[in-house]
This record gives sequence, C-alpha cells and structure tokens, in this order.
Amino acid sequence: MNLDNIRIVLVNTTHPGNIGGVARAMKNMGLSRLYLVAPEKFPDEQAVWRAAAAGDLLERAVITASVEEAIGDCQFVVGTSARERRIPWPLLDPRQCAARIGESSGREQVAIMFGREDRGLTNEELQLCNLHLHIPTADAYSSLNLAMAVQIVCYELRMLLVADKLPVSEDEQWDTPFCTVANLERFYVHLEQTLTAIEFLDPAAPRQLMARLRRLYGRVRLDEMELNILRGILTETQKWVELGRRGEKAE
Ligand code: SAH
Repeated sequence: MNLDNIRIVLVNTTHPGNIGGVARAMKNMGLSRLYLVAPEKFPDEQAVWRAAAAGDLLERAVITASVEEAIGDCQFVVGTSARERRIPWPLLDPRQCAARIGESSGREQVAIMFGREDRGLTNEELQLCNLHLHIPTADAYSSLNLAMAVQIVCYELRMLLVADKLPVSEDEQWDTPFCTVANLERFYVHLEQTLTAIEFLDPAAPRQLMARLRRLYGRVRLDEMELNILRGILTETQKWVELGRRGEKAE
C-alpha cells in the first residue's frame, strides 16, 4: 500500500473553501496529491484559510482543464457518488473500497474522483471509473459536504495503513501491468468505430451500449497485453469490413 500513488481529483469545484477543507482532510490522513479539474475559483484566500496547516498541498495541487488529463496515467479509478445512477456500476462503501485501492496503490496510480457540489459527477465521468464508491447515509439526505466525503474516504485508507493487513488478491500477482485510462479511452474510440462499421451500433440509436461495454471492461480490468489483443482484433475487423465494401462495389 502506498498513499503517494493515490490522488484525490476534484472536478469543477465551485467553492474554494471546500478545496481547502479537502487539502486538510487529506494531509491529516497522510495523502498529498491533489488534482483540481477546472476549479471555479482557485487560488483563493478561502482555500488557504480552510486548509490551515495543509497549505503546502494547495501549492502543489495539479490544475488541469479536463478529467482525462487528471487521470490519463492512472490504472485504477474510483468515482464517488451521493446517489444511484441509471446504469448500476460495481458499488462499494468506503471500507470495501479502501481495501481495493490500498492493494492497487502498491504498484499502480490510483485516482479517486469527487464531483461538483451541486451536481456531483456526470454519467460520462462516472463511466470512466472501475468502480463507484457511495458513503452510506440516511435515506432522507444522502449528500455530504465535499470535504467531509473526502475525509471519510481518506480515513478508511488511513485505517487500512494502520492495520497493515491487506487482503491478498489475484490482481497483486498479475504479471502484466493493467492498462491506463488514456489507453483504455483510445480502445473505446476504436471499439465504437468498429461496432458502427459492422452496424452493431447504430449511432442514431446507441442506447446504453457503450456505457455497458465500459462497465464490462472496467469490471474485468484489462492489462496492456489484453488491450493490445483486442485492438488487433478491431483492426482486423475493420480491414474485413473495408474488403467487404470493396467487394460490393466490384460486384
Ligand atoms: N447533489 C449532488 C451531490 C454532490 S456532493 C449529487 O446528487 O450528486 C459533492 C460530492 O461529494 C459528490 O460528487 C461526491 O464526490 C461527494 N459525496 C457527497 N456525498 C457522498 C456520498 N454519500 N457518497 C459518496 N460521495 C459523496
């Protein structure tokens, strides 16, 4: 387990005070890598004030224009959500999630994404994730303050580090590195093009096909070699489609 390989990604945060609160929550628990995707107001005095003695995390925060930039080099991505979405994704509570993240962080880059104060993460952003994390709450009010949500997630990671007993799973002994978000995204583009070419996917009525395929591959966690095999299959499929088209013309 390595907390230095875990980044907290805040997407489009509105209130700078929350960013400061997050920095403090992280530093209290021993996390240090804060990524801010297009924050509304940052740097800002309120952030510094709420961060208290965690101002160094704000200074070192990485600011990006897009989510893809913030998590492109990660092999494991968790999205947090205050409510259930249309397509159910593997959903864990913070403790279960900490076990998965803790294990993965030993040798991979891990991102935990937090959403906007008013709207959370979009469906597209949630579909970039291997799994979703929900903090159990009372039914009547499920939305926590952003910094408090970060606090709970980081606390569970801390507890795991303190307990120093990680469950051993298959993933840990895997011989090939798991693929990064950036490579997986290129694969999804290729897959969508190919499915359209063979007319399995109708761009006019895509329904939830790509979302469901993302969920499938996200659940499996492809390694780099498996990803290359799938890309090879897609490339060959596209060649055959081309040949078929030319054949049609020749006839
Ligand atoms: N109204 C928004 C809530 C956003 S709260 C919505 O319905 O999605 C801001 C962020 O705090 C969320 O995007 C999530 O990252 C985190 N958060 C708040 N409550 C949470 C909960 N119960 N479980 C997991 N994350 C939560």
